[in-house]
Amino acid sequence: MPTDWTRALAVVAHPDDLEYGSAAAIADWTDGGREVVYLLATRGEAGIDTIAPAECAPLREAEQRASAAVVGVTQVEFLDYRDGVVEYGLDLRRDIAAAIRRHRPELIITMNHRDTWGGEAGGGFWNTPDHKAVGRATLDAAADAGNRWIFPELISEQGLEPWNGVRWVAVSGTTTPTHGVDAAPGMERAVKSLMEHKAYIEVLTDQDPEEYVRGFLGGFAEQAGARFGGRPAVLFEVFPR
Ligand SMILES: [Zn+2]
Repeated sequence: MPTDWTRALAVVAHPDDLEYGSAAAIADWTDGGREVVYLLATRGEAGIDTIAPAECAPLREAEQRASAAVVGVTQVEFLDYRDGVVEYGLDLRRDIAAAIRRHRPELIITMNHRDTWGGEAGGGFWNTPDHKAVGRATLDAAADAGNRWIFPELISEQGLEPWNGVRWVAVSGTTTPTHGVDAAPGMERAVKSLMEHKAYIEVLTDQDPEEYVRGFLGGFAEQAGARFGGRPAVLFEVFPR
């Protein structure tokens, strides 16, 4: 995985998307003095069956901020798209391109934009519309951010000059990963980070929350390790630019 960068922007659809896989790598990066900012398309308000969206949105936002803080991320932004019905299109590309211009990252992290999930656990499972839309729009926005003529209103209305410095977009959860990060140094914080999504996990499983989280993240990293010299890993499909 490239290490010659100082700023990353992680763009995903929902609270918990980064915690289900990427957080161990993010903890390791912030430890090394790198800056990582989170950008979420939605507040995940349609994610809990027993809590109506209006009540759920602020709850999940708070859990996401707590969860980010555990892995050294202090800036968490929300685009306020409606959870579950995010559509790929110009609005989404423009909003993500604007964030890229504001934060000027060299590395962008996002989640699986393909139809199905990667990894042994994912094999054959259909991805969700929000993940596909946000992942694909993020890959596109990395280029949009660098072109002054694609969304000229970002300059005229928001004063956001082009940023053509994105060098890689790293996508987690795909069927065809190309790079890996050692999950061991960040794993304990990754567990604590996912556990901050208390309300979500409580409804998701009857298991003890910590047991569930350790089992899930540990198993996931171990499986990924089969492609990473046997060491637990976080895998990404890296698209260079
Ligand atoms: Zn999600």
